[in-house]
Amino acid sequence: MEISNDFAIWSQYSQEIIILLSLDYKILAFNPVAEKIYGWHKQKAIGKNFLNLGAQHQLSAAFLERTKEILAGETVRVKAELYEQQYTLEWTVARKLNVDNSPVGFLLVAQDVTRLYKLEQALKKSEESVYGTSQELIEFTELVTGQEIREKSLIEYAKNIYSYLEGIIAAVPGFVYWMNREGIYLGCNDNMATLYNLKSRKDIIGKTYEDLYNKKTGDGYRKIDTQVMFTGKPITIAETLYALDGTICVYLSSKVALRDKFGNVIGLLGNSIDITAQKQNEQFLKEAKERAEAANLAKSEFLSVISHEFRIPLTGILGMAQLIQMQNLKPEKQKEYVQHISTAGAHLLNLINDTLDFAKLEANKFELALAPMDLHALIEEIFTMLRPLAKAKALELLIHFEPDVPHLIWGDKRVLRQIIINLLGNAIKFTEMGNVSIRVECIEQTSDFATLVISVIDTGIGIPEEKQGMIFDHFSQVDASHSRRYGGAGLGLTITKQLVELMSGTISVTSQIAKGSTFRCVIKFALQKEASAQTPWMAYESTVRILIVDDTPRGNVIQRQLSPSNSQVISSNEAFSTLLASYQLSDPYDIVIIDQRLENIDPCELARLILQHDELYQPMLVILIDNGSVNTKNFVKAAGFFECLTKPIQPFALQVALTAAWENWIEQREMRSLSACMPLSHGGTNPMTALNNNDSTHKLKVLLVEDDEIVKIVHNNYLQELDCFVDIASNGKEALEKLNSTYDLVFLDMGLPDIHGIDVIKEFRKRTRGKKQTPVVSLTGYGAESSKQEFMSAGVDDVMVKPVFLEQLEKIIQKYCKEKLQVSEEC
Ligand code: ADP
Repeated sequence: MEISNDFAIWSQYSQEIIILLSLDYKILAFNPVAEKIYGWHKQKAIGKNFLNLGAQHQLSAAFLERTKEILAGETVRVKAELYEQQYTLEWTVARKLNVDNSPVGFLLVAQDVTRLYKLEQALKKSEESVYGTSQELIEFTELVTGQEIREKSLIEYAKNIYSYLEGIIAAVPGFVYWMNREGIYLGCNDNMATLYNLKSRKDIIGKTYEDLYNKKTGDGYRKIDTQVMFTGKPITIAETLYALDGTICVYLSSKVALRDKFGNVIGLLGNSIDITAQKQNEQFLKEAKERAEAANLAKSEFLSVISHEFRIPLTGILGMAQLIQMQNLKPEKQKEYVQHISTAGAHLLNLINDTLDFAKLEANKFELALAPMDLHALIEEIFTMLRPLAKAKALELLIHFEPDVPHLIWGDKRVLRQIIINLLGNAIKFTEMGNVSIRVECIEQTSDFATLVISVIDTGIGIPEEKQGMIFDHFSQVDASHSRRYGGAGLGLTITKQLVELMSGTISVTSQIAKGSTFRCVIKFALQKEASAQTPWMAYESTVRILIVDDTPRGNVIQRQLSPSNSQVISSNEAFSTLLASYQLSDPYDIVIIDQRLENIDPCELARLILQHDELYQPMLVILIDNGSVNTKNFVKAAGFFECLTKPIQPFALQVALTAAWENWIEQREMRSLSACMPLSHGGTNPMTALNNNDSTHKLKVLLVEDDEIVKIVHNNYLQELDCFVDIASNGKEALEKLNSTYDLVFLDMGLPDIHGIDVIKEFRKRTRGKKQTPVVSLTGYGAESSKQEFMSAGVDDVMVKPVFLEQLEKIIQKYCKEKLQVSEEC
């Protein structure tokens, strides 16, 4: 048989075994792949019977069995092993035809499928072994998922378990996540994916801290996670997440190390729950507790200070009253003591007013009553009122309005007045030389509003920088001695600040020691509109009762122009009886407007009758006159009229004039009590030294250390009544100069203007260490047990809380001076 060239080339380069056989199975062609697999060189193989070549029983058997079919034209495929399963070959056997189509031999082509076959075998084997376990798997899957398994495929079982566990992980509450040792996230639950706006849980795979958090949060998390993976110890910790939008969340995180089957740490599993709300609640409760504690402390402090402040004027009032009762006093002395009672009473009243205002403000019970007002007029009125105080100290009082400051604003006049009086009052109080001024400027203005700066400037003692922050706190004074030296309880600025803030304004201070202070209030005011329906008298319309005495119909016109509902028009012959009836009903009139031309009585006579009737409650008297000459005005004012208005008067002008007069009247009424409260003059010679009685060897020698003038008079008189020789020191310095062991007893006030009583007693005890100890009794307004103990441990022998009465002093003297008293009795 001839072998063509094409066949030779094809078989030479084929990847398959190609063998050509004669009809009697002799090898005619044997390609290189056949040489390699059979291990026979072509030269040796050719001519050999193929069926006897190598161990290939399966092929040989099939060949022989199917030779006839092959020769008939069928192509036979046989899978056969060679060399004891070393190779598995897949044969294709066909006949080889001659040119005349007669069979001349066989063509065999084989593929080496050894690897594939082995895999198949292995798979088959494993399938068989798995079949045994698949039964267990079915049971396990049913146990885990709680569902009956019908599918028979192993992969289905696995999928079932996988999706079930996936479902659990996805739905676990809180935020669950796991990562590898490098801090790369490998998975999370649904909550976590939603938290980070991930489309699916899978999107977290490969993310790092940098991808999910800002630096601050990421660094915090990395630190904790690294620690868990490094130590292998679980941790539960509160972690803070600083979100990109600025919100801060707190999570309670439990983290554990993930390990492989050998126990090596391969990552971290964490579960966090959002505890932001709880933390906020905790913080809220903590702050509320602190506020409650602070309020409690402030309440105790308030009570302690207020009881001290109240005791001082009370000591004066009660002491003076006792002195008046027990002594056979000359009328001048009586008058003097009564004057002291009234000064102390006015001081007490002022204190009560401040305390009530303070309490109202603290309880948010203070309400603004906004009404149209003239700011310029208000400030000028206050100036008129305070001028006498400034004059008494030879201080210049200045006022300056920038030209653009509006006149007509909406404001609460009472509140504004209190603010300005407090600031100007302080400025005058704390300035010995120079001037006090008020300056008003406008820093912003629209058609509806104006923001004004009201500054009160003085050239006084100034406030040290470190104290400027605390003077607005209640009861705080730059120096404890200020209350003694200048009066006041340290409530004024607290009230002022709260009032300014009530008007949505701010107050600040700048000051230099010995140069002066500037208090600056910035307040935004609504401006009055021309077309405003408000009228000047409106603020008082419902509260101030008016009686109009007029014998003509004009009285009714005036009534309509003012407050028809809160006023009454009466003819002159009924006027006085109407007023009397109103007193009896305890519903007196606040203003009586009297026409000059009355039919039955002279208006000045009527005024006299009204003013004489009740000294305690006097209405403001206004007269309407025809001719407003200066003389007439002076005349009627001398008769007791507070305001004199000239007819005819337009409705608006009448309201403006009456409003101004009423506010002036109120201020003057308040001023009478205010000026009564101003501290008595300080410095100079002490009037009390004149009260010292003559020395007597048998009398008890007592040193009274007290700075309050009224208390000093009371206690000195008591001691003299008890037959003591009294020496007086008005401050700590004087006390230390005088203190020596010649005194039988010392009464020491603790709140002295210069040196605190505690330092005085300490210094005295230091000086007299090892010598005879003079008994020292402290007098104090502070009733708290803690204060008493503080004084006792500083060295005083006893503590008396003001107000102190004669009988108590007598007992104390008997307690500490028994021996001396016996000696003097014997003498
Ligand atoms: P007080 O009634 O004691 O004056 P305030 O609250 O009005 O209380 O003031 C608190 C303290 O602030 C004062 O005692 C004083 O020490 C200080 N102070 C206030 N105004 C001035 C001022 N114009 N110059 C100096 N010190 C001032």
